[in-house]
Formats: sequence, structure tokens, C-alpha cells
Amino acid sequence: MSFPIERFKEIRTPFYYYDTALLDATLEAIKQELIPNYHMHYAVKACTNPIVLKHIAKAGFGCDCVSGGEIQACLEAGFNAEDIVFAGVGKSDWEIELGLEAGIGFFNVESIPELEVINEMAKERGKIARVSFRINPNVGAHTHANITTGLAENKFGIAMEDMEKVIRIAQEMQNVEFVGLHFHIGSQLLVMDDFAALCERINELQEKLDKVGIAIPNINVGGGLGIDYQNPDGNPIPNFKAYFDTYKKGIQLREGQQLHFELGRAVVGQCGSLITKVLFVKQGSVKQFAIVDAGFTDLIRPALYDAFHFIQNLTSPDAPVEKYDVVGPICESSDVFIKDYDMPKVQRGDLIALRSAGAYGEIMASQYNCRQLPKGYADL
Ligand SMILES: *Cc1c(COP(=O)(O)O)cnc(C)c1O
Repeated sequence: MSFPIERFKEIRTPFYYYDTALLDATLEAIKQELIPNYHMHYAVKACTNPIVLKHIAKAGFGCDCVSGGEIQACLEAGFNAEDIVFAGVGKSDWEIELGLEAGIGFFNVESIPELEVINEMAKERGKIARVSFRINPNVGAHTHANITTGLAENKFGIAMEDMEKVIRIAQEMQNVEFVGLHFHIGSQLLVMDDFAALCERINELQEKLDKVGIAIPNINVGGGLGIDYQNPDGNPIPNFKAYFDTYKKGIQLREGQQLHFELGRAVVGQCGSLITKVLFVKQGSVKQFAIVDAGFTDLIRPALYDAFHFIQNLTSPDAPVEKYDVVGPICESSDVFIKDYDMPKVQRGDLIALRSAGAYGEIMASQYNCRQLPKGYADL
């Protein structure tokens, strides 16, 4: 990726920079793999920067929302209401109302009490809500415990054993229409075996439901495909072919059945970088610190998940390499982007890029320490 460094010098740091050419190429790579009964709903929670959303809406994708605010952002960005799916274990009344009034495509329902409330609220408004059930498939995803969602111990979804009962309850209700099943097993998955295991579970469940005469018009397999944080320039676009081939091979779809995907990170992760300035280089007794003007308020992934972001010295890419702890200004000892990192020697005023920050970056920023939220730019 090349960066418009001269333009960067005119902008207050830290800020996010989105490479829309890479985003568009990524969207195109996904489109190449979609067959007619496959549908992509971008998982909006990864990044709701309006420029990014508009590019994705323009590509013709739907979206996967987990809050009323996200539904509003998507409608503003130009997504069709029918292409919006709405998930989440705790939907508030106003959010359900917004979904009903906008006429969204699916409510991904995660409990019986939620189903009852949606039925009730749809009835009051003379509407029929299209619901699909999120199933907890008890498939382990071998990533960080905080981003694994498909195990029985997680708060998400309805247990596999209860599924038939819950579908029957929905079929009895007047103001909901049962339209499918929803799964999501975790995030930053790079081994296709986990998705293959999910396909197996879905096939088993379908066979069970076939036997009792329950048809499932739509299956939504969620997201979770990871990106290469170690080597963003080597692998700027994830291996979508391997990912979709796993489903093409693994899931036995029934006649007319539609398959839905909700990728987030894989769509936007590589196109975004956090641009920050070196404030001071400090020699500690055992360490050398590069103190930068971005902190975990701007990019929380390293502090929250121990996540790795490749750091690029934009100003002096060819300087001799030295070892640094790259740290932010926040008054917390967890405000460290990386420890003992080899990078070209930096000095005060140098610009550096924390790469692969397009997903779960800008959107997770906070104002802790009365800091300003970072802005997001593209096409500078
Ligand atoms: C977060 C989330 C996604 C997207 O996950 P990625 O790892 O970013 O692809 C998809 N579906 C649901 C229900 C989610 O909560």
C-alpha cells in the first residue's frame, strides 16, 4: 500500500486512513466467488465509517447490524432495508420498532423472550416480522477466548437441542414468519476446518429438521474469516476462494435454499490504517520507547485482545532497524501497541502507520482521558 505522506503532514494526528482502491478490489474479489443463491451482508460493526459504508452499499451487498444505530447508519449509506439483517442478544424496544418500520430483511433472534416481544410489537403495528434463529452450534474456534462465540458456554444463540421446539413456537405465532437459521462461530479464523465443521453441523441439523417436516428457506453462516495481520502488503486481500469453496463443498443446500454470509473483518480490515506521529523517543533503563500520539482510545485491539498490528515507519522506511516498545499517551500501563518491535529508527515528528486497522479500529475508539475521537479519511 502506498500512502499520501505529503497530504498526511497537513492533517492532525492520529487519524484513520482508508485505501478505497483496496476496499473496492476486496469487494470485487468477494463478488467473484458469489454464486446466485449466495448473499453477502457486510458486518457493519467492523467499521461504520460513512465512506467505507457507501463503497460497500454501492457494491450491492447487504449488511448485518447489531444495533439500531447501525441500522440507521446503513439506511443513510444507501443499503436497502430488505438486505439488512439484525442480530444481537439484547435488542431494545426502539431498535425492534426501527427494524419493523424500516422493513428490514431478517431479525436474527437469540431467545424465546425476544421472539415473543418481536411478535407482540409486530402485532401492534400490523406487521409480520421475518425471523431467523441464531443457533449456538457448539463449534470451537481456536482464537482468543474473547472472540469465540460458538461454544455452548457463550451467551449467544439458542442451543441446538431446543431448535425444533423454538421453530414450532414461532410457527404458531401470528406476526412472525420463520425464515431461517443463523450461525456465527467466531472471528479471525484462518483455518478453514472451523467453517467445514460448521457445515457438518448444519447438514446434521437439516437432516433432523427434514425428518420432522421443517423447511429452512435461508441459512446464514455468519462471518469470521480472518486477515493476515503479520503481512498486510503480502496478503492485502483474504483468500475468499478457499473460504467460499469450503461452503460450496461443505453445505448440502436444498432446492431454492439461500445461503447468507456476514463477513466484517475480511472486508475492511486491510484497507484501513491508523496514522500516528512519534512524539518522543525515550531511553528507559532496559527499553527504548517510541511514544506516539495515538493510544488505546484510538485502537484498542492490542490492549483488549493482545492483537498484533504491523507498524510501518512512513517517514524513514530505510533507516537502520532498532528495537522499540511503541506506546501511547494514555494513563494506563496497558496502553502499549507492541513490545520489543524491530522497526526503522524513528525520531520525533515521524509518521508511522499501524496497519490492518480497518476492522474494529475507528469504531471502537473512545474519549477516555478527554481525548478527541480520531477522524477517518479516504482518497486524500
Ligand atoms: C461480529 C459478527 C460478524 C462479523 O465477524 P467478522 O469476524 O468481522 O467477520 C458476523 N456476524 C455476527 C452475528 C457478528 O456478531
